[in-house]
Amino acid sequence: MMEKSLHDREIAENLAVIQEQMHAACHQAGRRTDSVRLLAVTKTVDPQRINAAIRLGVHQIGENRVQEFLSKQSDLLLENTQVHLIGHLQTNKVRQIVGQVQMIESVDSVRLAAAISKRSEELGIVTPILVEVNIGGEEAKSGVEPESLEQILTEISGFSGIHVHGLMTVPPILDTEYEKRQIFSKMYRLFVDIGAKKIDNIDMQELSMGMSGDYREAILEGSTIVRVGSALFGRRQY
Ligand SMILES: *Cc1c(COP(=O)(O)O)cnc(C)c1O
Repeated sequence: MMEKSLHDREIAENLAVIQEQMHAACHQAGRRTDSVRLLAVTKTVDPQRINAAIRLGVHQIGENRVQEFLSKQSDLLLENTQVHLIGHLQTNKVRQIVGQVQMIESVDSVRLAAAISKRSEELGIVTPILVEVNIGGEEAKSGVEPESLEQILTEISGFSGIHVHGLMTVPPILDTEYEKRQIFSKMYRLFVDIGAKKIDNIDMQELSMGMSGDYREAILEGSTIVRVGSALFGRRQY
């Protein structure tokens, strides 16, 4: 019990700092504070600590792995909490996860979008998705190349079991505030440009970018969802 309350206090303090920083970044950018949502990234975090965050008012969590989420799911206080899948999704896991989460942020191919759409249709639902973009053009990273984004969105716009709400990105780790803002700004321009094309069935409302080390810069450049893990729960223990 002792240890649990210590954890809870640590999470509460971290959350207060994050919320303060998010508000400050919104003010600096001249944005409304309710224009950015905090998604608490809960990979490797045990249900007790996730529930502590939920009780403190975090109502959106992000999990990376299908198996890990499903194994924790029944222990989580999910009545008023949305779950986003944010990690790479293999098509052979689609069947297990569709219908269990409120959004899949990490869609990075037409094939995956098709599988999610097909499974959603079987369940009679429409799954909200984001398309992940590899904005830094890194070889080892998932996400579609910026140059292929329009083509891919056009191809998946006809799939009736999914609805595209926007874009997600995990940029390269950069050192300076200037570099971080530059890459987020590049992402924001892509987001705005693609939105202006008004592709059928594609909405550009959500831009998921910013993690523990760069969420302030992401907000300054137009993020609507920041995905924060270690700054909230402490360093991950794998
Ligand atoms: C782990 C993870 C995060 C959170 O990372 P932190 O640096 O701990 O905030 C955000 N997004 C994705 C896709 C992740 O895998």
